[in-house]
Amino acid sequence: MGVNSINFYRQFQTDTDCYQYLSAIKWEDGYQCKKCDNTTFCRGKRPYSRRCNKCKYDESPTAGTMFDKLKFSLLLAFHIVFKISTKKKGMSSLALSQEFELRQKTCWEFKWKIQQAMASSRQKPLTGEVHVDEFLIGQYEEGKQGRSRDSNKRLVLLHLKSLTV
Ligand SMILES: [Zn+2]
Repeated sequence: MGVNSINFYRQFQTDTDCYQYLSAIKWEDGYQCKKCDNTTFCRGKRPYSRRCNKCKYDESPTAGTMFDKLKFSLLLAFHIVFKISTKKKGMSSLALSQEFELRQKTCWEFKWKIQQAMASSRQKPLTGEVHVDEFLIGQYEEGKQGRSRDSNKRLVLLHLKSLTV
């Protein structure tokens, strides 16, 4: 197991770890309500969700991302994305279903979402509006155009701004 794997498994051990992580990235530039643009919030009902003080819209860190409406836990989803993005040749939905004990169709659907997100992040670099969330882990971008090596040091980098998934 490489250093990336060790760090990843250490950082993400529970669903809460994942929600906390998504929340931190989603609102790293500050909170703004999607519905009314208000910038004050209180704690929402779900883990790490934020509830607008004005219109009461409750937004989960997963809303509008490929982690929305999952049929399995967020932690599992993180691990699947990690697995797929660190394997050079990717992983078949059959192999995923065996490893994570999920239905193959479920794996296929989630894998498709990941691929869409990755393809979109390649087409739309980190300038201006980022269309779909971007999930970079470990060596995913190694040898490719764009990001510096430093970005590889961040285990998981998600850009969730201006989402239109
Ligand atoms: Zn609002």
